[in-house]
Amino acid sequence: MHDLHIHLGGAVPSSVLWEILCDNGLRTEYVDFTTFHDSLTARPNEVKSLDDFLGRYFQVTEEIQSSPSAASVSAYQVVAKAYRRAEVSAIELRFNPHKRMRHGLHTMDAIILAVMQGLERASLHYGVATGIILSLGRDLSLEANWQIIDAAIKWRSRGSLNGANGVVGIDMAGPESRSLELSKPWMSEVSVMMEKARAAGLKITYHVGESEATGPDGMLRVIEAIHPDRIGHGIELRNAKGKKRDALVTLLRDEKICLELCPTVNLVTRVIPDFPCIARFVRDLADNDIAYCINTDNPYLIHTNLKQEYEIIGDELGDDAKSLLDLSMLHAADHQFISE
Ligand SMILES: [Zn+2]
Repeated sequence: MHDLHIHLGGAVPSSVLWEILCDNGLRTEYVDFTTFHDSLTARPNEVKSLDDFLGRYFQVTEEIQSSPSAASVSAYQVVAKAYRRAEVSAIELRFNPHKRMRHGLHTMDAIILAVMQGLERASLHYGVATGIILSLGRDLSLEANWQIIDAAIKWRSRGSLNGANGVVGIDMAGPESRSLELSKPWMSEVSVMMEKARAAGLKITYHVGESEATGPDGMLRVIEAIHPDRIGHGIELRNAKGKKRDALVTLLRDEKICLELCPTVNLVTRVIPDFPCIARFVRDLADNDIAYCINTDNPYLIHTNLKQEYEIIGDELGDDAKSLLDLSMLHAADHQFISE
Protein backbone atom coordinates (compact mmCIF):
# COMPACT_ATOMS: atom_id res chain seq x y z
CA MET A 1 0.00 0.00 0.00
CA HIS A 2 1.12 3.55 -0.76
CA ASP A 3 0.59 6.60 1.43
CA LEU A 4 0.99 9.63 -0.80
CA HIS A 5 -0.55 12.22 1.53
CA ILE A 6 0.99 12.19 4.99
CA HIS A 7 2.34 15.18 6.96
CA LEU A 8 5.46 15.01 9.12
CA GLY A 9 3.68 17.29 11.61
CA GLY A 10 0.85 14.82 12.16
CA ALA A 11 2.45 11.43 11.64
CA VAL A 12 4.95 11.07 14.47
CA PRO A 13 3.94 9.17 17.63
CA SER A 14 3.52 11.42 20.65
CA SER A 15 6.03 9.25 22.57
CA VAL A 16 8.74 10.09 20.03
CA LEU A 17 7.89 13.81 20.15
CA TRP A 18 7.89 13.73 23.96
CA GLU A 19 11.37 12.19 24.03
CA ILE A 20 12.67 14.80 21.58
CA LEU A 21 11.10 17.55 23.64
CA CYS A 22 12.70 16.29 26.86
CA ASP A 23 16.10 15.58 25.30
CA ASN A 24 16.23 19.09 23.87
CA GLY A 25 15.22 20.65 27.16
CA LEU A 26 12.37 22.59 25.59
CA ARG A 27 10.31 24.50 28.10
CA THR A 28 6.57 23.90 27.55
CA GLU A 29 3.24 23.94 29.33
CA TYR A 30 3.14 20.11 29.40
CA VAL A 31 3.87 18.74 32.84
CA ASP A 32 4.05 15.06 31.91
CA PHE A 33 3.70 12.65 29.00
CA THR A 34 0.02 11.93 29.65
CA THR A 35 -0.89 15.61 29.42
CA PHE A 36 1.21 15.95 26.29
CA HIS A 37 -0.27 12.85 24.61
CA ASP A 38 -3.77 14.00 25.45
CA SER A 39 -3.14 17.44 23.96
CA LEU A 40 -1.99 15.86 20.69
CA THR A 41 -5.09 13.72 20.23
CA ALA A 42 -7.55 15.29 17.85
CA ARG A 43 -11.13 14.40 18.78
CA PRO A 44 -14.02 15.22 16.43
CA ASN A 45 -16.09 16.73 19.24
CA GLU A 46 -13.27 19.15 20.16
CA VAL A 47 -12.03 20.28 16.74
CA LYS A 48 -14.11 23.17 15.41
CA SER A 49 -12.81 23.42 11.84
CA LEU A 50 -9.88 22.81 9.49
CA ASP A 51 -8.26 26.09 10.64
CA ASP A 52 -8.69 25.12 14.27
CA PHE A 53 -7.13 21.70 13.58
CA LEU A 54 -4.08 23.16 11.82
CA GLY A 55 -3.51 25.87 14.42
CA ARG A 56 -4.10 23.70 17.46
CA TYR A 57 -1.75 20.81 16.71
CA PHE A 58 0.74 21.70 14.01
CA GLN A 59 2.32 24.65 15.82
CA VAL A 60 3.34 22.31 18.64
CA THR A 61 4.63 19.44 16.51
CA GLU A 62 6.46 21.76 14.11
CA GLU A 63 8.18 23.51 17.01
CA ILE A 64 9.36 20.20 18.47
CA GLN A 65 10.59 19.04 15.05
CA SER A 66 12.55 22.27 14.55
CA SER A 67 16.11 20.99 14.64
CA PRO A 68 18.06 18.72 12.31
CA SER A 69 18.22 15.85 14.82
CA ALA A 70 14.51 16.12 15.70
CA ALA A 71 13.50 16.28 12.04
CA SER A 72 15.60 13.24 11.19
CA VAL A 73 14.26 11.08 14.04
CA SER A 74 10.70 12.17 13.25
CA ALA A 75 10.97 11.27 9.56
CA TYR A 76 12.48 7.88 10.40
CA GLN A 77 9.72 7.05 12.89
CA VAL A 78 6.93 7.96 10.44
CA VAL A 79 8.14 5.28 8.04
CA ALA A 80 8.99 2.70 10.71
CA LYS A 81 5.55 3.02 12.31
CA ALA A 82 3.63 3.04 9.03
CA TYR A 83 5.41 -0.12 7.93
CA ARG A 84 4.89 -1.96 11.22
CA ARG A 85 1.27 -0.92 11.66
CA ALA A 86 -0.06 -1.10 8.12
CA GLU A 87 2.64 -2.72 5.98
CA VAL A 88 2.94 0.46 3.95
CA SER A 89 5.43 -0.12 1.13
CA ALA A 90 5.80 3.45 -0.19
CA ILE A 91 5.52 6.84 1.50
CA GLU A 92 5.73 10.35 0.14
CA LEU A 93 6.25 12.42 3.28
CA ARG A 94 5.41 16.10 3.12
CA PHE A 95 6.56 18.91 5.40
CA ASN A 96 7.30 22.62 5.40
CA PRO A 97 11.05 23.17 6.02
CA HIS A 98 10.59 26.90 6.60
CA LYS A 99 8.46 26.21 9.67
CA ARG A 100 11.18 24.03 11.21
CA MET A 101 14.08 26.52 11.25
CA ARG A 102 13.35 27.73 14.80
CA HIS A 103 13.10 31.32 13.68
CA GLY A 104 16.37 31.30 11.75
CA LEU A 105 18.46 29.33 14.26
CA HIS A 106 18.74 26.46 11.75
CA THR A 107 19.11 26.64 7.99
CA MET A 108 16.54 25.19 5.63
CA ASP A 109 19.26 23.08 4.02
CA ALA A 110 20.13 21.47 7.36
CA ILE A 111 16.48 20.55 7.98
CA ILE A 112 15.95 19.09 4.50
CA LEU A 113 19.18 17.09 4.67
CA ALA A 114 18.18 15.73 8.10
CA VAL A 115 14.78 14.53 6.87
CA MET A 116 16.44 13.03 3.82
CA GLN A 117 18.89 11.11 5.99
CA GLY A 118 16.11 9.91 8.30
CA LEU A 119 14.23 8.58 5.28
CA GLU A 120 17.35 6.98 3.81
CA ARG A 121 17.84 5.05 7.06
CA ALA A 122 14.16 4.07 7.15
CA SER A 123 14.18 2.90 3.52
CA LEU A 124 17.28 0.83 4.20
CA HIS A 125 15.96 -0.68 7.45
CA TYR A 126 12.36 -1.37 6.41
CA GLY A 127 12.52 -1.69 2.62
CA VAL A 128 9.95 1.08 2.20
CA ALA A 129 10.25 3.38 -0.84
CA THR A 130 10.29 6.98 0.36
CA GLY A 131 10.23 10.47 -1.08
CA ILE A 132 9.91 14.02 0.18
CA ILE A 133 7.30 16.56 -0.86
CA LEU A 134 8.13 20.06 0.34
CA SER A 135 5.00 21.96 1.36
CA LEU A 136 4.64 25.65 0.66
CA GLY A 137 2.41 27.58 3.08
CA ARG A 138 -0.61 29.75 2.40
CA ASP A 139 0.25 31.34 5.73
CA LEU A 140 3.81 32.22 4.64
CA SER A 141 5.00 35.18 2.59
CA LEU A 142 5.62 34.71 -1.12
CA GLU A 143 9.32 35.33 -0.39
CA ALA A 144 9.40 32.43 2.10
CA ASN A 145 7.61 30.20 -0.39
CA TRP A 146 10.15 31.08 -3.08
CA GLN A 147 12.91 30.01 -0.68
CA ILE A 148 11.24 26.59 -0.35
CA ILE A 149 10.95 26.25 -4.13
CA ASP A 150 14.63 27.13 -4.60
CA ALA A 151 15.64 24.65 -1.89
CA ALA A 152 13.52 21.90 -3.47
CA ILE A 153 15.17 22.47 -6.83
CA LYS A 154 18.62 22.44 -5.27
CA TRP A 155 18.04 19.18 -3.36
CA ARG A 156 16.21 17.53 -6.28
CA SER A 157 19.56 16.66 -7.79
CA ARG A 158 20.47 14.32 -4.94
CA GLY A 159 20.14 10.80 -6.35
CA SER A 160 18.05 7.86 -5.20
CA LEU A 161 19.52 5.38 -2.75
CA ASN A 162 18.12 2.05 -1.50
CA GLY A 163 14.51 3.09 -2.15
CA ALA A 164 14.91 6.63 -0.79
CA ASN A 165 14.10 9.10 -3.56
CA GLY A 166 14.92 12.42 -1.87
CA VAL A 167 12.87 15.48 -2.84
CA VAL A 168 10.31 14.54 -5.49
CA GLY A 169 7.55 17.13 -5.31
CA ILE A 170 5.99 20.38 -4.15
CA ASP A 171 2.73 20.84 -2.26
CA MET A 172 0.66 23.83 -1.18
CA ALA A 173 -0.80 23.56 2.33
CA GLY A 174 -2.13 25.70 5.18
CA PRO A 175 -5.45 27.28 6.11
CA GLU A 176 -7.97 27.48 3.28
CA SER A 177 -10.02 30.14 5.04
CA ARG A 178 -8.31 33.10 3.34
CA SER A 179 -9.45 31.69 -0.04
CA LEU A 180 -6.17 32.74 -1.64
CA GLU A 181 -6.86 30.53 -4.65
CA LEU A 182 -9.59 32.99 -5.61
CA SER A 183 -7.06 35.87 -5.64
CA LYS A 184 -5.51 36.55 -9.05
CA PRO A 185 -2.19 38.07 -7.87
CA TRP A 186 -1.58 35.15 -5.48
CA MET A 187 -2.38 32.51 -8.05
CA SER A 188 -0.29 34.10 -10.79
CA GLU A 189 2.80 34.23 -8.51
CA VAL A 190 2.25 30.68 -7.24
CA SER A 191 1.80 29.38 -10.77
CA VAL A 192 5.23 30.83 -11.68
CA MET A 193 6.73 29.05 -8.65
CA MET A 194 5.14 25.74 -9.55
CA GLU A 195 6.21 26.04 -13.17
CA LYS A 196 9.82 26.60 -12.12
CA ALA A 197 9.65 23.51 -9.89
CA ARG A 198 8.09 21.43 -12.66
CA ALA A 199 10.76 22.52 -15.14
CA ALA A 200 13.36 21.21 -12.66
CA GLY A 201 11.73 17.78 -12.65
CA LEU A 202 9.55 18.08 -9.55
CA LYS A 203 5.92 16.92 -9.47
CA ILE A 204 3.11 19.06 -8.09
CA THR A 205 0.31 18.37 -5.64
CA TYR A 206 -1.92 21.04 -4.09
CA HIS A 207 -4.28 21.09 -1.07
CA VAL A 208 -7.51 22.54 -2.41
CA GLY A 209 -11.21 21.75 -2.18
CA GLU A 210 -10.64 20.32 1.30
CA SER A 211 -13.28 22.66 2.70
CA GLU A 212 -15.92 25.03 1.38
CA ALA A 213 -13.50 27.97 1.88
CA THR A 214 -11.87 27.12 -1.45
CA GLY A 215 -14.60 24.79 -2.73
CA PRO A 216 -15.16 23.82 -6.36
CA ASP A 217 -14.17 27.35 -7.51
CA GLY A 218 -10.74 27.01 -5.87
CA MET A 219 -10.25 23.62 -7.51
CA LEU A 220 -11.06 25.07 -10.92
CA ARG A 221 -8.64 27.99 -10.45
CA VAL A 222 -5.83 25.70 -9.30
CA ILE A 223 -6.29 23.24 -12.17
CA GLU A 224 -6.47 26.00 -14.78
CA ALA A 225 -3.47 27.93 -13.41
CA ILE A 226 -1.18 25.14 -12.22
CA HIS A 227 -2.26 21.83 -13.78
CA PRO A 228 -1.19 19.81 -10.71
CA ASP A 229 -0.38 16.11 -10.99
CA ARG A 230 -2.45 15.44 -7.89
CA ILE A 231 -4.82 17.36 -5.62
CA GLY A 232 -4.85 17.05 -1.83
CA HIS A 233 -8.45 16.14 -0.94
CA GLY A 234 -10.63 17.84 -3.59
CA ILE A 235 -13.70 16.43 -1.88
CA GLU A 236 -15.53 19.70 -2.53
CA LEU A 237 -16.16 18.31 -6.00
CA ARG A 238 -19.07 16.51 -4.36
CA ASN A 239 -20.71 19.91 -3.78
CA ALA A 240 -20.19 21.17 -7.34
CA LYS A 241 -23.33 21.53 -9.44
CA GLY A 242 -24.31 21.88 -13.09
CA LYS A 243 -21.77 23.30 -15.55
CA LYS A 244 -19.15 23.83 -12.81
CA ARG A 245 -19.27 20.14 -11.93
CA ASP A 246 -19.13 19.13 -15.58
CA ALA A 247 -16.09 21.35 -16.12
CA LEU A 248 -14.30 19.96 -13.06
CA VAL A 249 -15.05 16.34 -13.92
CA THR A 250 -13.77 16.86 -17.47
CA LEU A 251 -10.58 18.63 -16.33
CA LEU A 252 -9.77 16.06 -13.64
CA ARG A 253 -10.30 13.20 -16.08
CA ASP A 254 -8.59 14.74 -19.10
CA GLU A 255 -5.59 16.02 -17.17
CA LYS A 256 -5.36 12.68 -15.29
CA ILE A 257 -5.23 14.43 -11.90
CA CYS A 258 -5.39 12.07 -8.94
CA LEU A 259 -7.40 13.11 -5.86
CA GLU A 260 -5.68 12.24 -2.56
CA LEU A 261 -8.50 11.26 -0.22
CA CYS A 262 -8.01 11.22 3.56
CA PRO A 263 -11.30 10.06 5.14
CA THR A 264 -10.81 10.30 8.92
CA VAL A 265 -9.23 13.75 8.95
CA ASN A 266 -12.14 15.11 6.90
CA LEU A 267 -14.50 13.84 9.58
CA VAL A 268 -12.37 15.23 12.42
CA THR A 269 -12.20 18.68 10.82
CA ARG A 270 -15.96 18.57 10.15
CA VAL A 271 -15.74 19.05 6.39
CA ILE A 272 -17.79 15.87 5.89
CA PRO A 273 -20.70 14.69 8.07
CA ASP A 274 -19.94 10.95 7.96
CA PHE A 275 -18.01 8.16 6.20
CA PRO A 276 -20.83 7.04 3.84
CA CYS A 277 -20.45 10.43 2.18
CA ILE A 278 -16.80 9.64 1.28
CA ALA A 279 -17.81 6.17 0.06
CA ARG A 280 -20.41 7.74 -2.25
CA PHE A 281 -17.74 10.13 -3.46
CA VAL A 282 -15.35 7.25 -4.22
CA ARG A 283 -18.04 5.53 -6.28
CA ASP A 284 -18.79 8.78 -8.12
CA LEU A 285 -15.08 9.25 -8.97
CA ALA A 286 -14.82 5.69 -10.27
CA ASP A 287 -17.99 6.12 -12.35
CA ASN A 288 -16.50 9.25 -13.91
CA ASP A 289 -13.08 7.74 -14.51
CA ILE A 290 -11.32 10.15 -12.13
CA ALA A 291 -8.22 8.84 -10.34
CA TYR A 292 -8.26 8.71 -6.52
CA CYS A 293 -6.19 7.18 -3.75
CA ILE A 294 -6.74 6.75 -0.01
CA ASN A 295 -4.21 8.17 2.46
CA THR A 296 -3.82 9.01 6.16
CA ASP A 297 -2.93 12.75 6.25
CA ASN A 298 -2.11 12.88 10.00
CA PRO A 299 -2.24 9.32 11.34
CA TYR A 300 -1.00 10.02 14.88
CA LEU A 301 -3.08 13.09 15.59
CA ILE A 302 -6.25 11.28 14.51
CA HIS A 303 -5.20 7.78 15.63
CA THR A 304 -5.45 5.92 12.37
CA ASN A 305 -3.24 4.08 9.89
CA LEU A 306 -3.49 3.32 6.20
CA LYS A 307 -4.98 -0.15 6.67
CA GLN A 308 -7.69 1.33 8.86
CA GLU A 309 -8.51 4.08 6.34
CA TYR A 310 -9.00 1.43 3.64
CA GLU A 311 -11.17 -0.64 5.99
CA ILE A 312 -13.33 2.33 6.94
CA ILE A 313 -14.18 3.08 3.32
CA GLY A 314 -14.39 -0.62 2.40
CA ASP A 315 -17.04 -1.18 5.10
CA GLU A 316 -19.17 1.61 3.63
CA LEU A 317 -18.75 0.54 0.00
CA GLY A 318 -20.39 -2.86 0.38
CA ASP A 319 -20.39 -5.32 -2.54
CA ASP A 320 -18.00 -3.50 -4.84
CA ALA A 321 -15.57 -2.58 -2.04
CA LYS A 322 -12.76 -4.78 -3.32
CA SER A 323 -12.77 -3.46 -6.87
CA LEU A 324 -13.00 0.19 -5.73
CA LEU A 325 -10.22 -0.21 -3.15
CA ASP A 326 -8.05 -2.09 -5.65
CA LEU A 327 -8.57 0.86 -7.98
CA SER A 328 -7.31 3.20 -5.24
CA MET A 329 -4.11 1.16 -4.90
CA LEU A 330 -3.68 1.06 -8.66
CA HIS A 331 -4.12 4.84 -8.96
CA ALA A 332 -1.66 5.41 -6.09
CA ALA A 333 0.97 3.32 -7.88
CA ASP A 334 0.28 5.10 -11.19
CA HIS A 335 0.39 8.61 -9.72
CA GLN A 336 3.17 8.34 -7.17
CA PHE A 337 6.07 10.78 -7.56
CA ILE A 338 8.70 8.30 -6.38
CA SER A 339 10.09 5.40 -8.31
CA GLU A 340 10.43 2.03 -6.57
ZN1 LIG B 1 -2.96 17.30 4.11
